[in-house]
Amino acid sequence: AVQSRVAAVTGANKGIGLAIVRNLALQYPSSPLHSGPFLIYLTARSAERGAEAVKTLNNDPQLKKAKVLAQDGGETTIKFRELDISQSKSIQAFSEFLKTEHPEGIDIVINNAGIAMQGFDATVVKETIHTNYYGTLEATQLLLPQIRSNGRLVNVSSMAGKLNKYSDAIRDAFLQAAKAPEVSASTALMEKFTQAVSEGKEKEAGFPSAAYAVSKAGETAFTMSIAAQEQKAGRGVLVNVCCPGYVKTDMTRGGGAKTPDQGAQTPVMLALQDINGKTGGFWQSEREIEW
Ligand code: NDP
Repeated sequence: AVQSRVAAVTGANKGIGLAIVRNLALQYPSSPLHSGPFLIYLTARSAERGAEAVKTLNNDPQLKKAKVLAQDGGETTIKFRELDISQSKSIQAFSEFLKTEHPEGIDIVINNAGIAMQGFDATVVKETIHTNYYGTLEATQLLLPQIRSNGRLVNVSSMAGKLNKYSDAIRDAFLQAAKAPEVSASTALMEKFTQAVSEGKEKEAGFPSAAYAVSKAGETAFTMSIAAQEQKAGRGVLVNVCCPGYVKTDMTRGGGAKTPDQGAQTPVMLALQDINGKTGGFWQSEREIEW
């Protein structure tokens, strides 16, 4: 029988996430992973915004013209599913839903959801680390085991998480954490940062006063660590982490050099294209770069 493919994208109601769903649909027909019907779960924390986004894509002129959607004779169906990565219960419910609906497994997960808050204090740090680090980590840990052989997991981190703004000791600790077989070393760095901020001592501890940057360094570290574990497991699932570039979205408030479609190219490439079996890499502008 023709196998069908299943993908899930988080934070997909707008910005880069929405563009990722669009470009998955556009690139699927020519992808080496192409195999029969393609179901994409566009997930969002708001049922209203998520349903609206599915409607927008179902009427998208470029998707219509390419005839990639099932309603236009193509193979791709986009469905909304609620998922708030800041709530363990929500991640668990989505994971259980996928297990029930797709006991044979899924093929692609793109963890794109993330926040960038204004200001810097202990509350901002807690909330940012909670969503960007712990939320993405839990989604990765619950969904990765459901990805079957030859599948992909892609985490959308950021160049803001590069290691050029830390003391040598913290920088080395991040590099060690990325190589560690358990994510506990990455998590310990997030806890160390959070604790230091609550004491007003993050600079002395070797961190920048920047919640988003540190959360994204943590996301990059844990993804590399999980990629190494996954490689050992030998299931053929590729796990990579990337920066979409500087993209015009609500997050960048009028800044951004790339369109969301351009920002979606690297994550979609890592999900659908031939990447030569690469796993555990940090990617930007469709190339593997130094973290
Ligand atoms: P946007 O703010 O435009 O979109 C963020 C998306 O994430 C929204 O759909 C938002 O939903 C969703 N989201 C936020 N919190 C949660 C949550 N708890 N659960 C589920 N979904 C959530 O940002 P971008 O599109 O620019 O960013 C997408 C990703 O790309 C992020 O991870 C970001 O850090 C990363 N990135 C972006 C860059 C840029 O230049 N734009 C640069 C580098 C990285 P809602 O509408 O409900 O708020």
